[in-house]
Amino acid sequence: EAFVKLDGITKVYKMGEVEIHAVDGIDFEIGRGELVVIVGPSGAGKTTVLNILGGMDTATGGKISVDGQDITSYNARQLTEYRREDIGFVFQFYNLVPNLTALENVELALQICKEPLDAREVLEEVGLGDRVDNFPAQLSGGEQQRVSIARALAKNPKLLLCDEPTGALDYNTGKSILKLLQDMCRERGMTVIIITHNQALAPMADRLIKIKNGKVSSMVRNDSPESIDSIE
Ligand code: ADP
Ligand code: ADP
Repeated sequence: EAFVKLDGITKVYKMGEVEIHAVDGIDFEIGRGELVVIVGPSGAGKTTVLNILGGMDTATGGKISVDGQDITSYNARQLTEYRREDIGFVFQFYNLVPNLTALENVELALQICKEPLDAREVLEEVGLGDRVDNFPAQLSGGEQQRVSIARALAKNPKLLLCDEPTGALDYNTGKSILKLLQDMCRERGMTVIIITHNQALAPMADRLIKIKNGKVSSMVRNDSPESIDSIE
């Protein structure tokens, strides 16, 4: 039984007379605990798919089940709860609150969450135990991304959704962030989905999904993914 299943997902934007088929019939399945990499050129529909999967946007058509629940049948209240309790988001530009410390940023996200983990412990886990009282501007890009990952992980989500998590980072810092995500996936058995336009990340994935023009152009399951350390 698939942990995540997308069945004929479409998203049409109407701009006056013009229809934009941002997502044009996407099907795929993901197993629990997999590290999934979604690649594709800019404009392919990756972010739209991720936002629909995370309950931040709704599909025009099709069906999505997550952990046995049909999220496409959810009303607005159920979707908000799903977003708050079940999904962790990591964005390219971190989206931290500038006038709150690292610890406060994580705690803020946990206020509305029913079964949060300990914010300080999770910050230690991502390697920021000695930076908890720093404000975002006092942290490097990589450290800010670690705070945002801690914020997502502290919710103890079912699904961690990462949209170009290394897009604003230099090569080595990006690599250390990917290593952290891979470790979290392996150690916690958490299902992690990473969107990227960087094909070099393909070997680290348990499952590689290629999206082109709003459609899946290929999907490959890899039984022996590489550690991020061995990827150039
Ligand atoms: P990707 O993440 O692969 O770069 P997106 O999902 O952001 O692709 O976008 C897919 C397509 O949908 C693009 O053609 C984009 O211009 C279009 N699109 C995305 N959001 C909107 C919107 N709010 N209104 C109109 N078109 C949109
Ligand atoms: P609220 O209804 O309290 O305003 P949302 O429904 O917008 O919250 O989001 C619920 C959860 O989704 C948040 O706890 C947060 O973890 C995540 N989230 C959504 N959008 C963002 C964002 N732009 N930056 C960081 N986290 C976000």
